[in-house]
Amino acid sequence: MLRGSYRIDALTCSFVLKACARVLALSDSLQLHSHVVRKGFSADALLGTTLLDLYAKAGDIGEEKGVIHKFYNADKAHKHCKQIHGKLEEIRFKMKEFGYAAETSFVLHDIGDEEKENALYQHSEKLAVAFGLICAEDEARPIQVIKNLRICGDCHVVIKLISKMYNREIIVRDRVRFHRFKDGTCSCRDYW
Ligand SMILES: [Zn+2]
Ligand SMILES: [Zn+2]
Repeated sequence: MLRGSYRIDALTCSFVLKACARVLALSDSLQLHSHVVRKGFSADALLGTTLLDLYAKAGDIGEEKGVIHKFYNADKAHKHCKQIHGKLEEIRFKMKEFGYAAETSFVLHDIGDEEKENALYQHSEKLAVAFGLICAEDEARPIQVIKNLRICGDCHVVIKLISKMYNREIIVRDRVRFHRFKDGTCSCRDYW
């Protein structure tokens, strides 16, 4: 369908993605996901829910100009790992100036505060947002991240700050809901 001259709308994409998820045809669904993003279908509610189901099976997703990137917690395997962690350091430094203190209560391990803060910086949604900032530095388009679990409180605070510091709109669709971060606030008004 993608190669042919068929007109594929959001509803069709949703059904095909659902079928892909059922048989775990992940590479097909990644191709179709690129199409969905290019066409701007990802705001469609039904399609969004289908994508969530799909990526619950595949891990967290970040997007680079219509190309999908997957991130896992403490991801050291990504080919842009060095730049991403460099960007996170920059974010961390800038946030301190904004008076941010890490919400270490979201880390379960029995370790010291500094390790806890480090552990929070390994969260896949932070990696995905940092990557989005690197590869679309001066674009007006929002950075989109799909997360297979509920976003944690620390990531929520940090992404709000990033949207203000970098003047970027960031959309995170987690397992529970849709978050649109803009100018230091989130569309969920901190209830999720
Ligand atoms: Zn987090
Ligand atoms: Zn939110």
